[in-house]
Formats: sequence, C-alpha cells, structure tokens
Amino acid sequence: MLSMLSSGIFAICAAIMTAAYTLGYTRIYLQSQQHSLWYLGFSLVLVIVLQDTYFYFTHRLSHHPKCYRWLHSGHHHSKNPTPWTAFAFDPAEAMIQSIYLIGITVLIPLHLSVLVALIMVMTMGALIHHFGVRLFEDSAIGKWLGSWMVGCAHHWLHHRKYTVHYSLYFTFWDRVLGTQYEGYETVLSPKNKTVKLEAVLPGKTIPFPVPFKKAS
Ligand SMILES: [Zn+2]
Ligand SMILES: [Zn+2]
Repeated sequence: MLSMLSSGIFAICAAIMTAAYTLGYTRIYLQSQQHSLWYLGFSLVLVIVLQDTYFYFTHRLSHHPKCYRWLHSGHHHSKNPTPWTAFAFDPAEAMIQSIYLIGITVLIPLHLSVLVALIMVMTMGALIHHFGVRLFEDSAIGKWLGSWMVGCAHHWLHHRKYTVHYSLYFTFWDRVLGTQYEGYETVLSPKNKTVKLEAVLPGKTIPFPVPFKKAS
C-alpha cells in the first residue's frame, strides 16, 4: 500500500518536472554539446554525492521522536526488509525525496541522460539495500566495497537498530558522524555474524542476510 502511495507521489514529481521543463524553469538540457563531455560524468557524480548527503541528514532527522511517526515509521514496518520494502515510504518522506529531484533540476544544469541515470542508480540502490541476501560482501572485493558503500547488510542493520546506518550510497557520513555500528566491519565477515548480532539485539537470534551463494 505504502509503495503504491509513494509511486503516486513520485509520478506527481515526474509530472511537475515535465511541466517545469516545458515552461523553462529547469536547467535540464538535451543537446550534449551544450556542456563538455566531462561535465556529463561530473554532474552525475555531483548529484549522487549531493543526494547521499541530503538523504543522510533528512533520514536522520526523520528518526527524531517528533518526526518519526508521520515521516518514517512506514518504512520501518519491515524488520526483515525485502525488495517490496525498498519503495515503501510514508507520503511525507516520498515528498522530501521528490523535492531533492525537483531541486537539482532547477539548480544544476543536467543532461536528461544524467537524470535518467540518477533515477536508475536510486532504484538499483534501493533494491540492493533491501534485497534480503548479501550480494557482494562475501569476497575480499565485496568486503572492501561493503565497508565503503551501503549494501544489504549495512541497511539491514538499520532496520534492526535505528540508531545506526542512516547513509544512502556511501558509508562516509555514518563513519564521520559516529553513526556506524561499531562492529560493522566484523559483521561483514559471515563467520562472526552471531557474536555481533548478539551485540545488536541482546538475547535474540534472528536470521541475518546471508551471502547470495548460500541463500538457496
Ligand atoms: Zn530509517
Ligand atoms: Zn530500508
């Protein structure tokens, strides 16, 4: 139900962006020669990094007791997130995330393909974070990636322990602002998951996202 509501709000956001583009209020451009080629890549990295920052602080704010119930509790109904959880937002939260998309199209010159790429990154990221099995963390490269980028294990811990892991794409803000679970690096090692989960939820044994190879 919440996923459908969120989809409706994101559809309204798309309609607003289209109308704003038609009326000339956005800085979306279609001719690739309007800005240099390197700017295409730079602008994509820029909007990803800005979104990561925007999300961290709005997400952390949404966990404030005065905001949580109406802004973010819907997303946390699921303790064991699945891909269906990925798009389950309270309407107010969906609006906050939509404001970011509208804001960048008004403020930053963006080629249409960059906007499409950002929406694909958002969608893929949301699915991976709520996938229910760890896709990459069960290898050396995966552990390195998992320590710097938000994956299923990282976000799963947030659904279990609300005071850690507010980041969207990169673990940077959680590391810098002290909201990364202190045993996280060890949690990434499947061998130690039981010990560390005991530290997250004392006295409880619960399934932890398992590496993809061992999921079947
Ligand atoms: Zn949250
Ligand atoms: Zn989530």
